[in-house]
Amino acid sequence: MGNSASTQSLKNHPFQQDYNITAKVLGLGVNGKVVECYRKSDSEKCALKALLDTPKARRELELHARACACPQVVQIRDAYANTVKGKQCLLVVMECMAGGELFSRIQSRAGFTEREAAQIVHQIASAIAFLHGANIAHRDLKPENLLYTSPDPEAKLKLTDFGFAKEVGRNKSLGTPCYTPYYVAPEVLGPEKYDKSCDLWSLGVITYILLCGYPPFYSKSGLAISPGMKIRIRNGQYSFPSADWKHVSSSAKDLIKQLLQTNPDKRMTINEVMSHQWISTYTTVAQTPLATATVLKEEREQWPEVQEELSQALATMRIDEDQKVQLKPLHQSENRILKKRRPELTGGKH
Ligand code: ADP
Repeated sequence: MGNSASTQSLKNHPFQQDYNITAKVLGLGVNGKVVECYRKSDSEKCALKALLDTPKARRELELHARACACPQVVQIRDAYANTVKGKQCLLVVMECMAGGELFSRIQSRAGFTEREAAQIVHQIASAIAFLHGANIAHRDLKPENLLYTSPDPEAKLKLTDFGFAKEVGRNKSLGTPCYTPYYVAPEVLGPEKYDKSCDLWSLGVITYILLCGYPPFYSKSGLAISPGMKIRIRNGQYSFPSADWKHVSSSAKDLIKQLLQTNPDKRMTINEVMSHQWISTYTTVAQTPLATATVLKEEREQWPEVQEELSQALATMRIDEDQKVQLKPLHQSENRILKKRRPELTGGKH
């Protein structure tokens, strides 16, 4: 872990030697502000994210650096380990995504069509395909982490924020002798698949919003992720209200249904998404006009709540998945039947 390119190229000299910081805040995140800065050598405008230097922050940087091999991921320009106001920090300098967040841009669009939606989903899916291929689950795939390079029409959409990303190795700990693989549930044997499937559920939600402007699951109480909404998500209770969906292709709806599958075993994998008709032939999808931009504009006051609900739903999924792998090694288990399997208790024979 610690010997990656990112950690090796971590600079120790002061960040201000190479960059001028401005007062402009580009965005607010859970871990603080992302601010504008300029590289002194060529005046390139960049974005600075400062993190307290913790093992978690190192992991975020590490996985983000690995993900940078993908062109659909926000690129890291430099990373510094500096002391700021007496605290050890990691200063991550990224390319500046001047085009803003995915749905802010769509909101101001006129004539947004199903083909454009398919092109956007194709871009997001390509980023996920790269990450999953590199055994990285993002686990926080939500609209505010999808940013455009610039305000131009040809701008690229890229994925950022690896704060919850997880390396999904193949049954690493379970392969060690203190775990017995015979009795565990299938999902415990392949937890990496479940971390990845959380990204596919998110992709389903984003695709749904792209096609109509509102999310598939609503919290009716007005509070983020009400008990009722949790149940609706678990049961996969959502619909395609015909007023907004009757002109949307059945291929798009088919993709959404397969992504919002509640059973992660039945949910599509990213490779299946890439070969799904609506994605693989996105350039020929019908240019059906969508209500998305109008709905997003009309409902803009609701948007923070939609974002909060999605964040909460993802947090719940991450907890659910993390709990599945909290399997005790045999020597910690107090279960009598399991104890029988421990060689030291049975004299090594059975
Ligand atoms: P956190 O992990 O604290 O949530 P993020 O990395 O998601 O932080 O960044 C928070 C916000 O800052 C994003 O939603 C976005 O609006 C803005 N932002 C992040 N990275 C960039 C960037 N490279 N260029 C421009 N704005 C950015």
